[in-house]
Amino acid sequence: LTENFQRSLAALRGLDKITETNIEPTLKEVRRALIDADVNVKVVDILLAAIKEQALNMKVVKGVTPGQQFVKIVYDELIRLLGGDPATSSSKAGASPLPALAESPTKPTVILMAGLQGAGKTTQSAKLARLLQTEKRSRKKVLLVAADVQRPAAVEQLQTLGQQIETEVFIPAMVGTGSVTALEVATRALDYAKQKAFDFMIVDTAGRQVIDERLMEELQQIKRVLSPAEILLVVDGMIGQEAANITRAFHERIGITGAILTKMDGDTRGGAALSIKQISGAPIKFIGVGEKLDKLEKFYPDRMASRILGMGDIITLVERAQEAVDEKEAEQLARKMLEARFDFNDFLRQTRFVRSMGSFAGVLKLLPGVSGMLKEDQLRAGEKRLRLAESVINSMTPRERANPDLLTVDKTAASRMRRIARGSGRSLEQVESLMRDFVNMRNVMAQMSRRMMGGGSGAGPV
Ligand code: GDP
Ligand code: MG
Repeated sequence: LTENFQRSLAALRGLDKITETNIEPTLKEVRRALIDADVNVKVVDILLAAIKEQALNMKVVKGVTPGQQFVKIVYDELIRLLGGDPATSSSKAGASPLPALAESPTKPTVILMAGLQGAGKTTQSAKLARLLQTEKRSRKKVLLVAADVQRPAAVEQLQTLGQQIETEVFIPAMVGTGSVTALEVATRALDYAKQKAFDFMIVDTAGRQVIDERLMEELQQIKRVLSPAEILLVVDGMIGQEAANITRAFHERIGITGAILTKMDGDTRGGAALSIKQISGAPIKFIGVGEKLDKLEKFYPDRMASRILGMGDIITLVERAQEAVDEKEAEQLARKMLEARFDFNDFLRQTRFVRSMGSFAGVLKLLPGVSGMLKEDQLRAGEKRLRLAESVINSMTPRERANPDLLTVDKTAASRMRRIARGSGRSLEQVESLMRDFVNMRNVMAQMSRRMMGGGSGAGPV
């Protein structure tokens, strides 16, 4: 996000209540940031109204600054507008690389590709064919149809791509010599696909540089004849504000069922996604992330929201922290640490907490300013240490976990450590060094606690 936005967020940080007046400068910055990210102006206004209402109703959460909370509101609202559910993040979502695609009750399922020239229709047609053919649970028989008949080069382009992925391509020459229309090609291709039992038929159509009447009529005719299950609008992600007009024009005339945003491998922010969804109501199904045929990805609303905001990493961190740490538990843990009642169960809970935030290295790197301070190998060492601790603690008996003394000062400590080393597949030295660390940590905490409580008040370790 812009520097100004960062600054106005910082201003929110110290507040304990958000009001109509103190939120105004921040909202202005959000507006500017979204417009910078190519979100259509009208769409921005809808979004801001929703954000403002929520910000004014926001309750202050302990441990999270109003600034961070505000970012989360903006983020969640973006996810919603992009067709997602803020409660389910993409990292948890199912693993299928294919988004939901409508299928016809009878073969073939027709997918019609539409969009302006250069948007990436031909390329995405081939990418989609590849995905349908290769996805584990799918393995569909796909026919590509070259219905861009004006330019011979366009037909050749699809043929070349079809060869690369071993997919049959229906070309105008299969209809007859001389001039054939796109409608004729589409009609004959449908017969062919039925006859040969193709599961899918992906129809690549012509585009114009600008939206024009003849193109729309041609698409309408093809739509009538083919009754496609999906009409996917292919939009160049770099087109910016124009995405809104393009979507409106295509949606009004042919009614799209979904969209593919292409060329997202560049540094474009992806505001076009918001415009497409807001104007058509149709979901973005894929993003194109490169010229090669394996560069088609499922669209994730939360990832795109982060990208549009341009500060996704920080948001992710705030979210994960909120999810992972139950406030009460954290408080209890802190008290135990200070009172040196901290045992191996607590230790395990703490390492799990750190790990639930993602990899240790990953978490630290998300923090602004930290990434430059820590060396990669230091981070890796820290992570290794956590894994070691977990495996060792897992091999302890419940009694040992609750009574660290059994492993440190008790006369059975040595034999216990040998047993744990065997059970965890670690060396005795590793187990011993972990115990030393644990004792040191407890001592440091006890010292801290005594100092904080003003020395000999009698409230020493329990
Ligand atoms: P069409 O006119 O809509 O059929 O567009 P094409 O499929 O011919 O694509 C136009 C250009 O964009 C070609 O050079 C493609 O290689 C390129 N292209 C398509 N999709 C992507 C993408 O996701 N990323 C990048 N970097 N280039 C793409
Ligand atoms: Mg083309």
